[in-house]
Amino acid sequence: MLPAKLRKGQLPTKICVTCGRPFEYRKKWRANWDDVKYCGEKCQRNRPAAGTTSSTPA
Ligand SMILES: [Zn+2]
Repeated sequence: MLPAKLRKGQLPTKICVTCGRPFEYRKKWRANWDDVKYCGEKCQRNRPAAGTTSSTPA
């Protein structure tokens, strides 16, 4: 269930695909927030080994 009280100005969050932890929106991502999948550069480099997904980029 959703939290009862959503505070105004609350930052959007996503789940890092590498470490599985939630991370908050950062200003540096405002241009590409939709494409952000990792909480940081470290996770971006250490993303799960290829082969687990068979989907191909469009
Ligand atoms: Zn991460």
